[in-house]
Amino acid sequence: MGKIGDNYKKLRDSIPPYVTIVVASKMRTPDEVKEVIQAGAEDIGENYVYPEAFDKYQSLGDIAKKARWHFIGHLQKNKINKALFIFNVIQTIESFRKAKEIDKRVKGAGKSIIPVFLEINSGREESKTGFPPDISILKEALVKMEELKHIKIKGLMTMGPRFGDPEEARPYFKLTKELFEQLKDVETKNSELETLSMGMSNSYKVAIEEGSNMVRIGSLIYGSQGRSLHCCGFLT
Ligand SMILES: *Cc1c(COP(=O)(O)O)cnc(C)c1O
Repeated sequence: MGKIGDNYKKLRDSIPPYVTIVVASKMRTPDEVKEVIQAGAEDIGENYVYPEAFDKYQSLGDIAKKARWHFIGHLQKNKINKALFIFNVIQTIESFRKAKEIDKRVKGAGKSIIPVFLEINSGREESKTGFPPDISILKEALVKMEELKHIKIKGLMTMGPRFGDPEEARPYFKLTKELFEQLKDVETKNSELETLSMGMSNSYKVAIEEGSNMVRIGSLIYGSQGRSLHCCGFLT
């Protein structure tokens, strides 16, 4: 097995089994994605529906179908149909309006329900999309979304501000976990909050400590220019 497969396995072995690893694969080639799936990865994340994810998914054929595909980028309205064709989960619902746009198209895409996560802009950053980290706004959104019959709200996702020192991200993860716990208690017909998607290559340890059960990891597995995989004591 190559380095990518090795990196995946080491990471898988180093974190608790209940934590799902979504292998963030933007800008990676079909061969790289194939290697990670063959090493056992079951969840692939992509940021660009078309052409990137679409072409990759098609070119991987049956191998692609061994994994669940998570959309983790910004979803444009004109890409929703194609997104529904590829993705098993859309992690980046940033508004009621977006949820409604998706809901309208699910049946036409030959599905009955698409699982989605609400994206939380936990740092209230202008450069990021997402719901503000405000429980009353989130509750209201969840209740409003109850009329949408073709989506199921299964989790929350946050990026949080990016810091050199992942400790600085901790308060944003803590906040998102609190919102997650509070929203779980809101019972609506089409919500069942189970997944808290937070933590990336430089912050996943802190995120797991704060209650994440899904991390999205790219560079730690695939490598990145200018940064050694072994730089930060993640993999030894
Ligand atoms: C690229 C990306 C990741 C992974 O980032 P790394 O630092 O490479 O691990 C996680 N989440 C989202 C939304 C991304 O776009």
